[in-house]
Amino acid sequence: MSQFWSEVVNRLTPYVPGEQPKITNLVKLNTNENPYPPSPAVLEAIHHETHANLRLYPDPNSSRLKQAIADYHQLNLDQVFVGNGSDEVLALVFQALLKHDKPLLYPDITYSFYPVYCGLYDIEAELIPLAEDFSIRIEDYRRPNGGIIFPNPNAPTGCLLPLTAVEQLLQMHPESVVVVDEAYIDFGGESAISLVSQYPNLLVIQTLSKSRSLAGLRVGFAVGQADLIDALERVKNSFNSYPLDRLAVAGATAAFADDAYFRDTCSKVIASRESLASSLTQLGFEVLPSAANFIFARHPQRDAVQLAASLREKGIIVRHFKLPRIDQFLRISIGTEEECSALVTELTRIL
Ligand code: PMP
Repeated sequence: MSQFWSEVVNRLTPYVPGEQPKITNLVKLNTNENPYPPSPAVLEAIHHETHANLRLYPDPNSSRLKQAIADYHQLNLDQVFVGNGSDEVLALVFQALLKHDKPLLYPDITYSFYPVYCGLYDIEAELIPLAEDFSIRIEDYRRPNGGIIFPNPNAPTGCLLPLTAVEQLLQMHPESVVVVDEAYIDFGGESAISLVSQYPNLLVIQTLSKSRSLAGLRVGFAVGQADLIDALERVKNSFNSYPLDRLAVAGATAAFADDAYFRDTCSKVIASRESLASSLTQLGFEVLPSAANFIFARHPQRDAVQLAASLREKGIIVRHFKLPRIDQFLRISIGTEEECSALVTELTRIL
């Protein structure tokens, strides 16, 4: 291969997703899915849409869903963008909203798709180290940049940046887009959506994959002032990329209408997280404070790879990242109460 092409190929580091095993009797705590099913109203809406309208093409603008999101978050319709999962929304953000004359800033431990998109779209990045306690230190972001992106809570640490700090960051860089990836915000954080009307440089991204139990439907969205949303729409339309399909629009719209179910399942996940965190602490783990639907923990005397392998032998899958500084941590998604108990029982035997 010529040097030119090998450079191009080397830039394209494929994203390595968490394992999706075929065996169904495993306790699957590795990819942060919600352990509870979607709201019955979602299933009903998908069923109805299947029978009534599946022969028809989808609405290219997903207007019904955008309106539901706008109403839910008290926004205007032109402040909402929807995509096939927040990963697609993120891809369009990387293509549309970053300035290329200065580096994009993001934490050195963060969602592993960001470096993949930087490689794909040839975007220079500057990685900002996390503090000793794994928190994001906003003072370290006081440097020239073509944009800033971070998950809040961060992934895979679960640590939350308070909303006041997010606001300080927005004020620090009025000329840069600040993208807050709130995939896990509903499990204990305060969303930056409340700041959208005040800050033209803010874009908030959320997903229905986690707190609304719809990872398989692929629906994510971004909210921000109309200019930013218009830029995303233009890039999406330039590619003639796929609109959301009819089932995704019907199911996602119904999810926003059943707020009681959403609140109830989030509360259950939060309660299980707190109880699992205290059980792990009792077993000698160091557990980072989590505002997400997963826990990031290490055992000072036990090797993380071996622990993950021993759990796997017992049918429990957790996630391990072979990365500097976090290679002794396990990321454990919050399962049902029974799944969390099964994990604690196995760990008690292993340790
Ligand atoms: N952002 C973060 C921080 C995530 O962890 C994930 C899920 N892996 C996503 C975005 C993408 O979620 P989805 O494409 O399912 O909406």
